[in-house]
Amino acid sequence: MKIDGSCHCGFITCEAEADPERTAICHCTDCQTLSGTAFRTMIVVPSTNFKLLSGSPKTYVKTGDSGRPRAQTFCPECGSPLYATGVGDDTKFFNIRLGTVRQRAQLPPKVQFWCRSAQPWLPEIDGARRETQ
Ligand SMILES: [Zn+2]
Ligand SMILES: [Zn+2]
Repeated sequence: MKIDGSCHCGFITCEAEADPERTAICHCTDCQTLSGTAFRTMIVVPSTNFKLLSGSPKTYVKTGDSGRPRAQTFCPECGSPLYATGVGDDTKFFNIRLGTVRQRAQLPPKVQFWCRSAQPWLPEIDGARRETQ
């Protein structure tokens, strides 16, 4: 399906062709800190399906719990997180932050990653299977 969205201030706008089955929750500690909340929701799209329509994101690279460097992009004006990808050759997929996607109400998460660092006070999330990682 076609999705589109923007950061909070509207400086960055983007669109992508996305598979609704590829929505996920990530409970890793980086996602908790970088999102400022308990977990992150995202939709994974091939980077070739992503199109920036306006603005230019800022990038911050951090080695994730997986041991791989992750490029975290965000709006330089308002700080909204936009997407994460790898560095170097590892940029085939963009993990778009679901909170920036206009159609997010139609994109319930299907899977949960890094459940071992999930906050213990979270309720079960129906329909999102828990991966062991
Ligand atoms: Zn912004
Ligand atoms: Zn994560």
